[in-house]
Amino acid sequence: MEKILTEEEQSRISGLIDNARKVVICAHVSPDGDAVGSTLALKHWLTRKGKQVTVVVPNIFPDFLQWMPGAKDIKVYLKHEETVEPIVAEADLFIITDLNDSARMQELEACVMANPAPKIMIDHHLNPTDFCQLVISRPDMCASAEVICHLLYQLGELEQITRDEATCIYAAMMCDTGAFTFNSNRAVVFECISHLLNRGIDKDKIYRNVFWTYSIARMRLTGYLLYVKMENLPELHASIITLTNQERKMLGIKNGDTEGIVNMPLQISGMRLSVFLSEDTEHDGVVKVSLRSVDDFPCNDMSAQFFNGGGHKNASGGKLYCSMEEAIEKVREAIKSYAHLLK
Ligand code: 5GP
Ligand code: MN
Repeated sequence: MEKILTEEEQSRISGLIDNARKVVICAHVSPDGDAVGSTLALKHWLTRKGKQVTVVVPNIFPDFLQWMPGAKDIKVYLKHEETVEPIVAEADLFIITDLNDSARMQELEACVMANPAPKIMIDHHLNPTDFCQLVISRPDMCASAEVICHLLYQLGELEQITRDEATCIYAAMMCDTGAFTFNSNRAVVFECISHLLNRGIDKDKIYRNVFWTYSIARMRLTGYLLYVKMENLPELHASIITLTNQERKMLGIKNGDTEGIVNMPLQISGMRLSVFLSEDTEHDGVVKVSLRSVDDFPCNDMSAQFFNGGGHKNASGGKLYCSMEEAIEKVREAIKSYAHLLK
């Protein structure tokens, strides 16, 4: 296992936790498996330590993460502002996980930042910004949950975590690595898994809970998008898929049904970049951009340059404030400007 804290940081984190009574744990907008699993693992652990803990996320998360132990108690800020604001205002410690910049909390940001209580960041995105008193940032790690796993090990806690805590950590790592098919070549990732298996997790069931829970609508959506909507640029080894809100309605798509579609074009031989554009369901005039790549193609650079976003080298996202037609044009322009890396 890897040491992630200096001795000074270790005594600071222990001190911050010892002194806290009411802890609020936050993650990024559109929480993914790593965000939900990491926040819940921390919640269960700190609750066991006698803290009053609430997980608060900016907006709803997909149905396929609802099975996670404690998911039903997560507080969603958007549309429940009056319930969540007092909880955030009363926190005496924040743990912010799976994000590197307070702006990634979107609508929740102002309310969290208005409370001067200490904040600890536990994250694996590049270039953390300076809004937390203690920053535990490990971009070399596959998931924020992996950082948590090493953290618990270093604090001497990993051998005592419950099955639920281990399940949340495993599920989070599994989600951020496509079930350990990318970004997971470090041997220590499997050392983490070994520790988690020793805590009694059923990794096969966790896999089924996350990946084999499609609705019929999701299955048909996959067919529709791949057959009708996928545009391939074979010379550039790139692919674009688009989804409008009108199509969502037509196909009966629910929140989370689009998850993972962006990865599919990368199964085509030689494909290097996949772009998925979808109209935001919560904000008019916003198109969400998801990028996935293989090998060295830097999605995060492309996202920062063209799509007001960022992320990891092989998995990034961003937003465009325009119509779908204009967004498609912008994507074509971005792909052309990166042609030298795609050909
Ligand atoms: P997804 O395509 O699943 O929405 O996002 C993939 C990854 O890209 C996320 O894990 C996150 O690191 C990053 N990402 C997504 N949207 C944004 C965004 O709007 N801004 C930034 N900086 N990163 C994003
Ligand atoms: Mn993550």
